[in-house]
Amino acid sequence: MSLELAALRRQFPIFANHPGGKPLHYLDNAAMAQVPRAVIDAMAAHDSTSRANVHRGLHPLAERADGAYDAARAKVARFLNAADPSEIVFTAGCTASINLVAQATGATLSPGDEVVVSRLEHHSNLIPWLMMAKARGCHLRYLPVTDDGRLDESRFGDVIGPRCRFVAVTHASNVTGAVSPVRKLAEAAHAVGAAILVDGAQAIAHGSVDVQKLGVDFYCFSGHKMFGPTGIGVLWGRRNLLALLTPPVTGGGMVGQVTDDDVTFLDLPYRFEAGTPPVTQAVGLAAALTWLGDIDRPAFSAEERRLTDRLLDGLSATAGVAIVGPKDLERRLPVVSFAVRRLHPHDICQILGERGVAVRGGMLCAQPLMTSLGLAAGVVRTSLALYNDDGDVDAFLIGLTEAIKVLT
Ligand code: PMP
Repeated sequence: MSLELAALRRQFPIFANHPGGKPLHYLDNAAMAQVPRAVIDAMAAHDSTSRANVHRGLHPLAERADGAYDAARAKVARFLNAADPSEIVFTAGCTASINLVAQATGATLSPGDEVVVSRLEHHSNLIPWLMMAKARGCHLRYLPVTDDGRLDESRFGDVIGPRCRFVAVTHASNVTGAVSPVRKLAEAAHAVGAAILVDGAQAIAHGSVDVQKLGVDFYCFSGHKMFGPTGIGVLWGRRNLLALLTPPVTGGGMVGQVTDDDVTFLDLPYRFEAGTPPVTQAVGLAAALTWLGDIDRPAFSAEERRLTDRLLDGLSATAGVAIVGPKDLERRLPVVSFAVRRLHPHDICQILGERGVAVRGGMLCAQPLMTSLGLAAGVVRTSLALYNDDGDVDAFLIGLTEAIKVLT
């Protein structure tokens, strides 16, 4: 392990505090990344010195909290290269962001309109659209995937047709790791007059995202998958499109005038932030972005790719293992899923867990994808982050071979 990587790992208290004193080989980053000390400290400092509700109070403490919350929003806007901080809505997470857009968009759709999702979607970017389509009499259409778990680009034109009003796709699959050709999808959506939302839950932790360059209309992600806290997510939307949507969730903090019979809403982004927002978590998310900006992200990302290559090689050489997803490094994330002949993913996860190797197994909130891939019990998923090293990959590969031996 390089000195730089060792120093980076030391910034994550979890690795020193793993119960039982055994080393932790954490390869479940696609479910939740670990959090550096800088983020924990920033949230503790906020709660210790500046805790108050935001955009309500006029006392100095409230003004400090307002300042911290507004600064977090501005930080996220710069991180995504949004045109303006008012395009950033803080939510409870990626799922909440998608539900917000699905419900608000649904109100503008008519029976017979089409909404396009893909077979790669996590349930979070599927069920909100499914429910909305059922309620509005719209048709949900699916972009198909290739045998190696990528979106089939040759079919975009067949599925995104003249009745399509909205496209909702993942930036990268939480199962196969495949990265979607987002710009092409945006062009296809816009060519038929549809808007496009991209679920960035997985992609955001593995490279920079410029929403303007991507050419999309809405982009969402969660704090906890990118070294930030739980309980916070982001919805970015183009100002002109956000402004057309009626807030599906209403309450305090988002209104102008309220009478017995009517209500006016505040301007963007506050109209979409009903109730007390996740202030401390916003401060933590901003700290995570600062932390990412302070490390040599390209160097650590290159290391992540090298380890992914090793992982793919090791899995390919393990008898009975079938990798689910692209086998080359091109346009894929360090999220690697696989099935083992005749073995249940949960049994493998449990044995690996006993050896200090944390991986995820099962349906991965992607049942339609598992069905289309013919994987009734799902898969085992390994997912890397910037702090993983060769020791993690070795422990996993050795543990897997032993698990297969024990179970067969
Ligand atoms: N989309 C994808 C691709 C995901 O992997 C996840 C989380 N597993 C989500 C959406 C939902 O994120 P959250 O649970 O943080 O709302």
